[in-house]
Amino acid sequence: MAISQKISQFMENSSWIRKMFEEGIRMKQEFGEDKVFDLSLGNPVTEPPEELRQAMIEAAQDKTPGLHRYMPNAGLADVRQAVAQTLSGEANVSLTANDLVMICGAAGGLNITLKTLLDPGDEVIVFAPYFVEYKFYADNHGGKVVAVKTKDDFSLDFSALEQGITNKTKAVIINSPNNPTGVVYSRQQLEELATVLKQKSTEIGRTIYLISDDPYKKIVFDGIETPNILELYEDSIYITSYSKDLAVPGERIGYVAVHPKAQDAENILAGLIFCNRVLGFVNAPALIQRAIKKVQGVSVDVEQYRKKRDFLYKQLTRIGYSVVQPQGAFYFFPKSPIEDEVDFSRMLAARKVLVVPGRGFGLAGYFRISYCLPDRVIEGSILGFEEAYNEAVQK
Ligand code: PLP
Repeated sequence: MAISQKISQFMENSSWIRKMFEEGIRMKQEFGEDKVFDLSLGNPVTEPPEELRQAMIEAAQDKTPGLHRYMPNAGLADVRQAVAQTLSGEANVSLTANDLVMICGAAGGLNITLKTLLDPGDEVIVFAPYFVEYKFYADNHGGKVVAVKTKDDFSLDFSALEQGITNKTKAVIINSPNNPTGVVYSRQQLEELATVLKQKSTEIGRTIYLISDDPYKKIVFDGIETPNILELYEDSIYITSYSKDLAVPGERIGYVAVHPKAQDAENILAGLIFCNRVLGFVNAPALIQRAIKKVQGVSVDVEQYRKKRDFLYKQLTRIGYSVVQPQGAFYFFPKSPIEDEVDFSRMLAARKVLVVPGRGFGLAGYFRISYCLPDRVIEGSILGFEEAYNEAVQK
């Protein structure tokens, strides 16, 4: 076989999202675009804010020589300075340009961070359900993901976490607002997490880094607080991107910030910069870096997502689904009315409604609905959700 057995196996077993995406394309070809309700992908339909479009035009029109050349692997100093200033205000920690690295999206940030931190066999704790790519990213750099359970409302389960920590634990990844549940961790939860990690670091005799992977940080509803982990735990690394809050996932832009007091912070930053280079990202794209400098503090209108959430929550609970009300991001993670959620996803697909089975996120028995979609698609899916539910409970 031309490709490695490992990659071949990963591709075969893993990507439910991809499978549903392909199924969606097939069904749209067969039945017509408007007859299929594809709620499987987290690709925002929203357009970027006008301020960003203008900033991109200005950046493209700037004829100052040298703007398109190689740059420091950490990114443009003035851009990092602007980002550091914004983040210092958000996180209540004083940061400078040297505390962060511009990256090719949160995905790029996770990869340079894990490559910097992990030795072969090191373990990275994630909370199930989790963004499935964590598994592959840890594997990319010789590490292994250890999934620990969350509570019924998807909040952090600290006794499960304590049991999951071993002397090989190098890092814990959290994601709040969460993909796939939409849950936001409260300040109290994050404080408790910090306390557990401090204790456990002392107990195992090495620092456990807390990686907060937060591309949905600004997509939150009802004024809920999303404390920044940099405020609460010194050995923390904050990764975010503009993919969701400026609706530009195709532009590949974000940043990693390391707490200035983190154990070995200077070396970690040097590692991140080196890994940006040797993983072949080299640096985050120049044009979009210069554009986002000018739109610090701007984000998409989250009200549109809140309205979609409210509509869907009302409909799903009316039908009878058991579902935790999301407080951010743009996903629901309802319980499947039958044990096997893959079978239930098929029952929905038979009604041209596409969702992702929960095992794609390390938690079977649930399924993910993405609602960053036009109202037409969300509204059109309700009949299918109702019919499939009624059929399932009658079985
Ligand atoms: N982390 C989580 C939890 C995500 O849901 C995503 C994308 O959907 C990413 C990271 C990757 O984000 P980016 O597109 O900024 O690389």
